[in-house]
Amino acid sequence: MLIDNARLDWLENGLPYSSQFDDVYFSRADARGESRHVFLEANCLRERWRASSINKSSINKSAINKVRPQYVIGELGFGCGLNFLQTWRLWQQTRAEHPGLRLHYLALEKYPLRHADLTRILALWPDLEDLAAPLLAQYPEHSAGCHRLQLADDVTLDLYYGDAEARLAELVTAGQRERLKIRLKIDTWYADGFSPRQNPELWSAPLFQHLARLSATGATLSTYSVARPVRDGLRAAGFTLERLPGFANKREMLRATLCQPAAAAPVASATPWFILPAPAPVPRRALVVGAGLAGASQALSLARRGIDVTVVAAADAPPAASANRQLALRCRLFARASELAGFYLHSFLYSRRLLAAAAGDIGACWHATGVLQFADAVNKRRPLEPEALAGHYAEAVVTAADAAALSRHAGLGLGLGLGQEGLHFPLGGWVEGERLCAALLAHPRIRLQRGAAVAELQSHMKSHTESHAPGWRLLDSHGTVLAEAEAVILANGAGVNAFTPTGTLPLETVRGQTTLIPETPASAALATVVCGERTVFPAHEGVHTLAASYHRHDARTAATADEDRDNLERARRVFAAPQVLSAQPTGNWVALRANTPDRNPLLGQVPDFPAMAQRYRTLARDATTTFAEPGVYLPGLYINAAHGSNGLATAPFASEILASLLCHEQPPVSQSVLDLLNPVRFLIRELKRQQSADESV
Ligand code: SAM
Repeated sequence: MLIDNARLDWLENGLPYSSQFDDVYFSRADARGESRHVFLEANCLRERWRASSINKSSINKSAINKVRPQYVIGELGFGCGLNFLQTWRLWQQTRAEHPGLRLHYLALEKYPLRHADLTRILALWPDLEDLAAPLLAQYPEHSAGCHRLQLADDVTLDLYYGDAEARLAELVTAGQRERLKIRLKIDTWYADGFSPRQNPELWSAPLFQHLARLSATGATLSTYSVARPVRDGLRAAGFTLERLPGFANKREMLRATLCQPAAAAPVASATPWFILPAPAPVPRRALVVGAGLAGASQALSLARRGIDVTVVAAADAPPAASANRQLALRCRLFARASELAGFYLHSFLYSRRLLAAAAGDIGACWHATGVLQFADAVNKRRPLEPEALAGHYAEAVVTAADAAALSRHAGLGLGLGLGQEGLHFPLGGWVEGERLCAALLAHPRIRLQRGAAVAELQSHMKSHTESHAPGWRLLDSHGTVLAEAEAVILANGAGVNAFTPTGTLPLETVRGQTTLIPETPASAALATVVCGERTVFPAHEGVHTLAASYHRHDARTAATADEDRDNLERARRVFAAPQVLSAQPTGNWVALRANTPDRNPLLGQVPDFPAMAQRYRTLARDATTTFAEPGVYLPGLYINAAHGSNGLATAPFASEILASLLCHEQPPVSQSVLDLLNPVRFLIRELKRQQSADESV
């Protein structure tokens, strides 16, 4: 998950030079002019945005109506982001010509510039400062994988860090693409690697094959290079080439068009149950059940895409951890790098960007204090080895530190033994949970309907002919319809077990009691969140939150004095001098968390469990059986739940992933991550387990 940064030299005229590739990042003569000529104008962006806006909204009039379609640009080599900023500027200037269109810009970069270098380079163009500033505010200089930057409601930048060919190969495999009618359809490619002679790997034939596979019909690619290997590779991938006049003293440049993308050959899948049906039309309206962090962030991700969202929440819903007075943002760590570790890392980074870059109420909930964690805070029997984590986590995410260094960060002596190490998350911090949920729901397209509890879901097909969209009704316990829409997202934690389609999901409820204590003159010095046997938060309005007890399979909501005592005792052990904390609880609060057996959330379309159990029943006799039939899923029904104690880190990113799926966009994670979170995983594991149980008889 680590990544190398670019190694730069600076030329006498102040321009950056790559010492790795022995090449310039942009034209010495007129960088802006060349970028405009080779990429923006050669791809006729302005005209195509206008045409896309007209075509996409008229073709899908009935289905997508006000929902904004998107124009997708892919770039090989993000570099200094000059092409991106100029594209964004043109987008802004021409917005009135493409109403409702959204820009999705995916850029691949193997050696990201350091933040300080990028800042210095972007200062070369003061007239782009208004766009460079929000980019720099979110720009990551570390960690492989996809960093999604939401720069405006209509501009999303996905920075894919890593080797371009490897990242493109992960986007979606050919067979799945065929089945899924997948999402990623690039309209325009910018091929802007260093020159093919200096950097042949960014111009290779296999890479061009990926570009063709991921392109929309009529996609164009432009580049300043007319070198032979570039022309041959593009032609072999199915592009038709034109030579256009080059910029300034360059005679020629290339424009390539993909008139007919090659049909992807279906590939037999070893895990057919994860193959989703062709997506339903993008919904105009959606219902979200649950108004905690999962529900609120899901509603926001959909509303930003132009979907009208009603969030339905029971007036007397059991208290959720989302509403805690103070909630910590930290990254769930793994001893080894893996797809799952990548999901948790990017979830954490996404939440941090969402909170730290937000203006208004969302930003006001965020306290960027950093978080400290004892190595055995999460798992006593298998404490994390801080040194080993450095092999796959960037220092910007987490660093190991000894007791003295951690105590300096905390502002108080910590109760770590001599030589014991702990962890520091410099990007961590905390939020006011309830206030954050309210701020996320404040988008003008979101309506909160608080009242009767949803008791059941009912599927119906729309009767009017212009749309065959699926539909769902939410019913209360008397069978009265509370609301209906084309899409429903269940985001009410363990409450999903109350509904027939999701009644068999293996969810457990974990009870957690937090205790409040007044600050003392000594404890007021606490400057960061500290996670030991309990998590202790810096005082807020004179009160510290101590979180939380952890009782599995317990849904009781009454607080107990015993738990307050236990919380206090464990919280006091976090500090070298326990008496810094007041021993007099002044309040408490019980919240219920939902967890799955593998401790990972449930995210995606809801499987038709009885149909899946029937289709794959032979797995219970022979777990190696192969199947041709893809999974069976309920049209229009989705789930985003079971974020356990980690919802602040995972719910916003999970919501983005799900919103991308609903809107036929490329989600910011690979297919393998979608599979790891797919709710059908438990049914398949259970069927396979039955086989091993039979064998052992
Ligand atoms: N488009 C950039 C801009 O507008 O500022 C300039 C790009 S610069 C000429 C080329 C970029 O390609 C460099 O940032 C380099 O690190 C990146 N690069 C080189 N090889 C790569 C690879 N195999 N995969 C992804 N990016 C690569």
